[in-house]
Formats: sequence, C-alpha cells, structure tokens
Amino acid sequence: MKKVLVLGAGQLARMMDLAGAPLGMDVKAFDVRTNNVVLPIDPEHIYGDLNQGIAECDVITAEFEHVAHNTLATCEASGKLLPSSEAIKIGGDRRLEKSLLDSCNIANAKYVVIQNKADFDSAITSLQLPIIFKSALEGYDGKGQWRLKDVEQADTIWQEMSVFINNASSSIPQGIIAEQMVPFDREVSIIGARNSKGEMAAYPLTENHHTNGILSVSVVTSVDKKLQQQAFEVFSKLAEKLNYTGVLAIEFFQVGEQLLVNEIAPRVHNSGHWTQQGADTCQFENHLRAICGLPLGSTQLIRPTAMVNIIGEDDIPEEIFTIPTVALHWYDKEKRTGRKMGHINLCGQTELELAERLVRISSLLNKESFPDLSEFAENLL
Ligand code: ATP
Ligand code: MG
Ligand code: MG
Repeated sequence: MKKVLVLGAGQLARMMDLAGAPLGMDVKAFDVRTNNVVLPIDPEHIYGDLNQGIAECDVITAEFEHVAHNTLATCEASGKLLPSSEAIKIGGDRRLEKSLLDSCNIANAKYVVIQNKADFDSAITSLQLPIIFKSALEGYDGKGQWRLKDVEQADTIWQEMSVFINNASSSIPQGIIAEQMVPFDREVSIIGARNSKGEMAAYPLTENHHTNGILSVSVVTSVDKKLQQQAFEVFSKLAEKLNYTGVLAIEFFQVGEQLLVNEIAPRVHNSGHWTQQGADTCQFENHLRAICGLPLGSTQLIRPTAMVNIIGEDDIPEEIFTIPTVALHWYDKEKRTGRKMGHINLCGQTELELAERLVRISSLLNKESFPDLSEFAENLL
C-alpha cells in the first residue's frame, strides 16, 4: 500500500484521500497552517508531526503552493517530494511564475514588478489602464488584488498597497505584480498530468466564471480542437521544463483565438472538480497515479458537465437530488463568508440536457449565494 503525505489539510487533500482509498493508497495530510481551523479531512488522517509523516510515507505532495520554503526543503531532502519544491515555489510567487512564462516564450498579460513607489509610478505610465495589481505571494481567490481604472485612484491604491508591502508576514520580500487588464472573451483552464516516466495527459479545456474574484462555475462541453492543442502545448512546455510530476493546472484568458496564461497552480485545481463525474478518471486519482509512478488514467470527457461552487453557504435544499446526475461534495468546513464550502457537479447526455438541468438547479438554489445559472445554460444552447 502506497503511503502519501499531502502538505495542506484542506478540501483538496480530503478529495485526494477519497480518491486514493479504492486504489489501496493511504493518504494523510499535514496541516501547514499555524492557526487551528477546523480540518475537513478525517482527523485520523492528519499528522501533527512533519518529520514522522515524512519518515512513514512513500511520496510527499502538496495541495497548495503557499508552503514555507523551509518545510519544502525538509520534504525535498527526503527525496520523496513530487512535484519538486521548485515547481511549488514558482506557483506560489507570481514573479517567479512570470519569469518562467517569459523564459518559455509563453504568452501572458503584460506586467511590471513593483517594489516601491517609483516602480508603481512607472507601471502606470508603461502599462495601459485599467491595471490590476496582485500581491506576488500568498494570493488566492482574488485576495490581495487592487484594480486601477482611473489615475485619480492611484494615491489611494498606493497607500493600501504600501501598507501591504511593509506588513508582509513572510520572510521573502513581498512584492506586487502590476498587470495590464486583459479584455478577455472567456476564462478557461487546462488540467494536465505528467507521471514520473514523462507520460502526459490533459483534460478538455474548462470554461470558468468568477463571482467577486472567486471561481463560481466551471463548464465543460465539446472541445475546440485548435484551442485545446494550444493549451496542451503550453501545458507540455511547462511540465517538461519543470520536469513536473503530478497534476498541473493552467488558467488562461482567451482573447479571440489566442490564449494568454493568467497563472499556474502546481496541484489539483478547483476548475478540475468536474472530472469527478464528467471524466473517465478524476484529477485526484490522476495526481495520485502520477506521483506514485502508475500509468495515467484516461482524461476523456464522458458527457457535458458543470461544477458549481458552494461559497459561504451550508444549506442546500434536498430537492436538488431529484435532478439526475447531481453529485454533492461537502468539504466539512465551518461556514464563513466567501469560503468554499463544497461543490455540486451536474451532467447531461447532451449540452441541451445539461442546460435544462442548470436551469432547474438554479431555481432551487438560494439566489443570494449562487449566480444565475440560467445564464450559463443559455451559452450552451
Ligand atoms: P485563484 O483562486 O484562481 O488562485 P488568484 O487570487 O490567484 O485566484 P487570479 O487568478 O490571478 O487570482 O485573478 C482572479 C481573477 O481576477 C481572474 O480569474 C480574472 O477573472 C481576474 N483577473 C486577474 N488578472 C486579470 C487580468 N490581467 N485581466 C483581467 N482580469 C484579470
Ligand atoms: Mg492563484
Ligand atoms: Mg486564478
């Protein structure tokens, strides 16, 4: 029985644990956060002691990229960490991520790195407004971001950002990336896996919609072959450059026929949760297969599928179970505004059937917590 240790004990570790059980894998998590939040993974599957966890496992992986560098170094020294600490660090620092994209000649939004007021002023002149400022470290779910639409907002934004730069809790210098706002047509992502033999497989592109900076809905339908190929090329270039092992997610802005990389995540990803019901093998299983040296499972789409995030809500009407294919996934977390509490997967044999089911489920869900899903349904028709 392969023993896997996951750095981070949130819902992604929990879903790896759930996917690993039928494969006879023993997945345990190590909580890398210092605060004592309620842990969604089974408490028996949590290690209190990192060194014991490292000694007892066969493979170490991560469910998120903001892991202290000394923890990554300790794990890497054991020779068991996959993907590498380099890949995890790049995903956790937008400056490293941007340099990697540039070094691979991969299209991404125009940007400037900011450390001080002079950089900030020159970013405003060298990039066109609107500009989005993103903290280089620790950002997720749209946190640590400022949007500058008008030069008149510049002073206010700089004041907030400079407090942020000076208050950095991390030992690594906090910085900001100023990025040109991309007038995208759609946001899409590719979730791919590469195993230790270098074999690669990727799921069909997923279309993603955000509400208040947080992913709210992902939809996967028939695939545009050219776009899929473009995304796969980016995936394979990055995965090979990093000698990557595991699941790697890449978020894109689609402008016309061109894909620009927004960011990468060196792990299983929220926009891949649909694979639990919509693909031959789910992303969690494929991540485990990749890091345990097994052949990858088929990434083929079974049927059109949507994933709806449950954000800041812990009460879902039971009537949703009357809709065929509905699959509810709770993370067992304490309710908090803006917190990802669970998700619902929903499929259809055809796009029309998925659209009908989206309309039906939307009429049952609380309007204050969920976007109007009939809008997404219309796009499928
Ligand atoms: P995640 O939870 O995906 O890790 P994050 O906090 O790392 O989120 P981003 O993915 O960089 O943040 O940005 C969140 C969202 O903000 C994007 O999905 C997109 O909708 C919008 N956004 C970010 N950068 C840009 C940009 N340059 N142009 C237009 N929109 C942007
Ligand atoms: Mg991110
Ligand atoms: Mg993102």
